[in-house]
Amino acid sequence: MRLQHKTQFLLVILLTVVSWQYAAAQAKKPNVVILATGGTIAGAAATGTQAGYPSGAVTIDAMIAAVPGIKDLANIKGEQISNVGSQDMSFDIMLTLAKRINELGARNDVDGIVVTHGTDTMEETAFFLNLTVKTDKPVVMVGSMRPSTAVSADGPLNLYNGIGVAIDPNAKGRGVLVVMNDWIHAAHSLTKTSTTAIQTFMSPLRGVVGVATYGKNDFYNTPQWKHTTSSEFNVANVSKLPRVDIVFGCADMPADLIDASVANGAKGIVIAGVGNGNMNKASLDAAASAAKKGVVVVRSSRVATGTVGRNVEVNDDELGFIASDELNPQKSRILLSLALLKSRTKDELQNLFTSY
Ligand code: GLU
Repeated sequence: MRLQHKTQFLLVILLTVVSWQYAAAQAKKPNVVILATGGTIAGAAATGTQAGYPSGAVTIDAMIAAVPGIKDLANIKGEQISNVGSQDMSFDIMLTLAKRINELGARNDVDGIVVTHGTDTMEETAFFLNLTVKTDKPVVMVGSMRPSTAVSADGPLNLYNGIGVAIDPNAKGRGVLVVMNDWIHAAHSLTKTSTTAIQTFMSPLRGVVGVATYGKNDFYNTPQWKHTTSSEFNVANVSKLPRVDIVFGCADMPADLIDASVANGAKGIVIAGVGNGNMNKASLDAAASAAKKGVVVVRSSRVATGTVGRNVEVNDDELGFIASDELNPQKSRILLSLALLKSRTKDELQNLFTSY
């Protein structure tokens, strides 16, 4: 063999070995699909210090490309489900997400799923998915408080940590998780507590599920409510949810807001009551009359933490109400919307609020 041929031959062998090693390394990495819905994590401002910006301006591929080292953690594929600020999140998009996650969760070549989402309604989508996805593979939501163009944008690390949780076998079976600012929250318990601070999400009653640190995780808690594979809710054939309104309680609350909800076709009303799910006498009467007409009335609270107990200050048995237990008004609305997909007794409905 001439020297030139020998060199070419050795080069071919070398390239083959290198590409085998590369393929083997890829095959060993877990596979994660990112479903992007929009939000500030995909927002872009004109400058790094501008407070105003449009949400949902950056595509999922650009978001992945902006996170150094993310592809060392996992083989990542991105899909754009929507690109909206989460104030425009809708049940339509939530249903599309849940159905897509259920398809992906059933596949052998998917180990975890990450959903990028705006923070405004993140807790609602997280809870909706917690009740409707049918997989114990990690489903992890991430967002950011600062747009991608900001000085110290928080999105890239949240996304990195979100992937780190999605590939962690210890994340399995804990329901839908939200990873923001290094904390891992359960869908049942988290809530947004600051309009602008990056440490916005808290889980006031139950505490965090764990902590994520540059792709490594410590888990402290396993949420005890029913979720995902133990949930009875199935949206496979659902394309629309019944209307459930939230009426906000306050001093001298006008009771005709409850009447307006009923007149506009609400099948359920959640009262974001004062204190322990309270409302004034006029509103109690309007709510009791709604309940008599078959509208399901759930008493929740506008207070950020604590439970709303049955028959504590309000006689729920007599007036035909449901108490929300630990669920805040926005999560009560999600549970009630799903619950009203079929007919249930008051006892069955009350049970849902203490099981989910
Ligand atoms: N309104 C935006 C949204 O929810 C901003 C909040 C955020 O993503 O941080 O998409």
